[in-house]
This record gives sequence, structure tokens and C-alpha cells, in this order.
Amino acid sequence: MTGKLRAGILGATGAVGQKFIELVAGHPWFEVTALAASERSAGRPYREAVSWIGTGCVPDAVGDLVMQPAEPPLDCDFVFSGLDATVAGDIETRFARAGYPVISNARNHRMDPDVPLLIPEINPGHAALVERQAFDGGFIVTNPNCSTVGLTMALAPLHRAFGVRSVLVTTFQALSGAGYPGVASLDALGNVVPFIGGEEAKMRAEPRRILGTLGAAGVEDADIAISPQCNRVPVVDGHLECVSVRFERMPGSLDEVVDAMRTFPTPDSVAGLPSAPERALRVLDAEDAPQPRRDVMAGGGMTVSIGRIRPCEVLDVKFVLLVHNTIRGAAGGAILNAELLVRTGNLRARS
Ligand code: NAP
Repeated sequence: MTGKLRAGILGATGAVGQKFIELVAGHPWFEVTALAASERSAGRPYREAVSWIGTGCVPDAVGDLVMQPAEPPLDCDFVFSGLDATVAGDIETRFARAGYPVISNARNHRMDPDVPLLIPEINPGHAALVERQAFDGGFIVTNPNCSTVGLTMALAPLHRAFGVRSVLVTTFQALSGAGYPGVASLDALGNVVPFIGGEEAKMRAEPRRILGTLGAAGVEDADIAISPQCNRVPVVDGHLECVSVRFERMPGSLDEVVDAMRTFPTPDSVAGLPSAPERALRVLDAEDAPQPRRDVMAGGGMTVSIGRIRPCEVLDVKFVLLVHNTIRGAAGGAILNAELLVRTGNLRARS
């Protein structure tokens, strides 16, 4: 590629927007040229508008950029969206109509029939759906909900090898998943909140679509029943999930299950992309792994850690997984989507 593609960030002041800024700083293919959020932030330099919760300080390259309203036109080739879901749907549609590729984290367009819901290592072929969108030059691509990403990445090798019929999953989700300022401190500290609005519905639907098959009529969902229970816990980053699975075809041994996860390959279409980790999944042998504090940054936050793979007394097999919710589960996943679309030729400089 000659020169970097110019990225705008919608929702740049939020928890996900800040992670975009951290991850795009120093990216070999992308640079940030425009920042937008609500009217509350518009007109102010980024470093004044943001309550920075990222690592270190606000990167110099963006600190003086003046925040703009989240409306086209913006001075960029495409936009990443970390917009609040109450406004993301209409704003993202307006950008796509104005000819901008929109690489979104928000839930609003994930289940639209012609919008790819992508985890590049699992369903890169679904990116072809952008060709069916009716926008003039623009398009919308989404990544899944943060807890869905970890679950679906762990299920993918099992579904390929044995067919997954049903899943029970209980989540322990980090505070950063609720955005900034998020959960009130008196609700969060020393406590567990056994409800996250809308989360269980997303976990039931999104893995079926990602593991589904793309045909002439669109994506045919995988036939998997999923029963999630979602909890908010006082952890900063990293969603832990306890998963039990029933298979269509029984594996010959537990080792076959472990091998399927350990050897899960990265497709050629994704290998070597700047944000692709060496391994999408890593299986840990320690009896007390994975843990958010120790393991959340595996693969730069892009690798899902899996441990405690063992027989399940009720279904067939159970295990524990950990996913970084704002990296693999949000900004990092979206950046990997954008890199895939560069490789497929769909994302390029706007004339
Ligand atoms: P957040 O911290 O609450 O940030 C929301 C952003 O949206 C802020 O930049 C805010 O700007 C902007 N915004 C709010 N109202 C707006 C309006 N009327 N017009 C334009 N911009 C507006 O939320 P977040 O956690 O970063 O999440 C952002 C999106 O990613 C959500 O759709 C969320 O569901 C999704 N997501 C989050 C995670 C996670 O782990 N946090 C993971 C996956 C997906 P101001 O600062 O100006 O108000």
C-alpha cells in the first residue's frame, strides 16, 4: 500500500474510542485524521474533551485535533465507530450513504442481512456481503459483542470438528465493557451485578450468524442453542466465561477436543495482517488459568485464552475462556476487520 489510509473515529471520547486511538497510533496502514463524538465534545481539542482512561497519555498525534459532530463529511477515507448504541444506527447509515466505509463496534447493524458480522479468523468469507449493500461507495461492517467474540472463537474449532448442538455459558464481565463512566462505583466495588441489559440476547443470536453459512440468499445461521447468563464483576479489563457444550458427534477422547482448540488455524486471508495474533486461541494447562490479571494481554489482547478443558457432568465438555473486551472484543477486532477489507480490496483511499 502506498501511504496510509486516513481513519476517522466516531465516539472517540468513549472507552472503545480511546482504545481505537491507542491501537491506531503507530499502525502501519492507518492514521487518525478526524475525531467525532457528541455535541458535548464538538469544537474542543481532543485532549480537553476526553477523560483519558487509556495507557499513558493522549497520543500527541491526536491531542490537538478538534472534535467534530458525528456527521459527514469528515476528512478521512473511512470511519471506525465506537458510538453509543442509542445513536449509532442512524449516524452509521448516514456515513455509509455519504460514501464512507464504516467499521463499527455498535450492535445496531450487526443483524442486518447484508452487513457482515465478522471475526476474520472464523468467517472472512462473509466480508463479501459488502458487495450486496445498496450504499453508493460506502458500506457497513460490524464486529460482534465483546462476550460473543470470545465464545464464538472458542466454539469455532469445536463446531468444525464435532458440530456444536447446545451451549450453556456464564460470563464474568469487566467494568470497561460498560463504557465510561460506566457502572457506579458503589454498585461495582466488592459486588457482582447479575444483569447486563441486552447482553444475553446478543450472545444467543450472534454466534449462530458468525458460524453460519453464506449462500446466495445470505447467511444461514448455524443451528446451535445457546443459554447465556451475564454478570458484571469488579475487574477492569477482560471477560471470563464458563462454558459447557453438547456435541452432535462425540469426540473419541478429551484430547481430540484440546487438539482441535490448540491447533485452530489462522486462514491465509488473515495470516500476516498487522493486528492478527500469531495464534487466535491459546490453550493453557495450569489448573487455575486463565485469569484476567495474568492473561488478558495475550497476543496483544487479540488472543483468546482457554483453560480447564474437562468432561462436563451434564453436557459433554466444559472449559473457561478469557477475552479482552475492548481489544479483541471491540477496537482491536474492528481494526483487524479493516485490515481484512484492505486485503480484499474493499477498503481503499477515497478519491
Ligand atoms: P462509551 O464509553 O459510553 O462511549 C460512547 C461514545 O459515544 C462517546 O464518545 C460519546 O461522546 C459518543 N456519543 C454519545 N452520544 C452521542 C451522540 N448523540 N452523538 C454522537 N456521539 C455520541 O461507550 P463504549 O463502551 O466506548 O462503547 C461504544 C460502542 O461500542 C457501544 O455501541 C458499545 O455497545 C460497543 N462496544 C463496547 C465494548 C466495550 O467493551 N466497552 C465492547 C464491544 C462493543 P461524548 O463523550 O461526546 O458524549
